[in-house]
Amino acid sequence: MENFTGSFTQQEPIPAAGIAAATAVMQHGRLHRYNTVDGETAETALLEEEFAAQTGAQFCLAVASGGYAMTTALRACGVGHGDRVLTNAFTLAPVPGAIAAVGATPVFVGVTPDLTIDLDDLAGKLDQADTLLLSHMRGHICDMRRLIALCDAAGVTVIEDCAHTMGAAWDGVPSGRWGRFGCFSTQTYKHINSGEGGLLISDDAEGMARAIMLSGSYMLFDKHSAAPPPETFAQIKYETPNISGRMDNLRAAILRPQLADLAQQAGRWNDRYAVLAGGLEDTGGLMLPHRPASEQFVASSFQFLLLDWPSDAVADVIARCKTRGVELKWFGGAEPTGFTSRYDSWRYAPSAPMPETDRVLAGIVDMRLPLTFSLADCALIARIIKAEVSAVWQSRAA
Ligand SMILES: *Cc1c(COP(=O)(O)O)cnc(C)c1O
Repeated sequence: MENFTGSFTQQEPIPAAGIAAATAVMQHGRLHRYNTVDGETAETALLEEEFAAQTGAQFCLAVASGGYAMTTALRACGVGHGDRVLTNAFTLAPVPGAIAAVGATPVFVGVTPDLTIDLDDLAGKLDQADTLLLSHMRGHICDMRRLIALCDAAGVTVIEDCAHTMGAAWDGVPSGRWGRFGCFSTQTYKHINSGEGGLLISDDAEGMARAIMLSGSYMLFDKHSAAPPPETFAQIKYETPNISGRMDNLRAAILRPQLADLAQQAGRWNDRYAVLAGGLEDTGGLMLPHRPASEQFVASSFQFLLLDWPSDAVADVIARCKTRGVELKWFGGAEPTGFTSRYDSWRYAPSAPMPETDRVLAGIVDMRLPLTFSLADCALIARIIKAEVSAVWQSRAA
């Protein structure tokens, strides 16, 4: 019997160019983004220029975390106390948490078996809020043309949570470029790694001016090069509170070389995904989410569905895979554990039951896909999952 012995949480090292750039920042000591000498552009400002250029956005702001990027986008769109914000029922805790952080209440929208937001459910709920915080959870991207058409017609502002879609696109348009703001995370488990960090992109000059003021720029906004022109700040600088959450030059220095490698890394992730998906095709009882050609995803994780399986059978598969070294997580568990939790476990945000969504959540099995796994590792993991799913499936059928 084959076992897997690799680590599901081991990242690749920071590229040598990132280590060298970080060392240079530590040697000159100017870690704060506004601490520059004459003629110097801070690493943080350079990172913003480069990410704006890469995504085609007019403006970019680097911040302290992905969660901070989301709260800042919500605030910059005028969302506050007592407002309601539409968001995905299938997402991670920082997303409803960002909505709660600005004093607003999430209104959850269901998930389809392809793990994207249920656009029919969304259509029925658009009259309940003025804003949608759309989470491209685990990198699954819905039909963005239909989503934007629905939201535009209803006057609903879209903010994208792109924590799992940096480098991805729908129909060639980068993820984060469909909504008014795109929010990204550079936390260790995302597509580029600075431990903690976030990026915000937008074409909305006034919204971005508010975001820059919110992030803690004092009156130093002219030190931002991927920012709207200074006249945009004329009134906004008086009216916007400072809620510090800046990025520093050390993190930016670590990130810039990783950003340059992003397309190549995305290809490596997708090669791994293809091996896993290929190895699990035609496994009785197991469903892979359909991924249309328009969805140019970056597969930094892997999901499959054991749809309509009893809970104890799903738990059995997970336990059997674990004894063979394959760590799977389940979104269907009644109790939140690790990073998995369900919309109904966020008790600060009351929700009505969603039976179709509960059915999907109960079947979602989730796996990290670090780039330290080789293609042979992925083939082995697929063999193990296939064998254990099949064993449980057949014992149930018998
Ligand atoms: C990680 C994550 C975030 C938030 O990022 P942090 O940088 O950890 O605050 C937001 N949304 C999703 C779906 C995430 O996985």
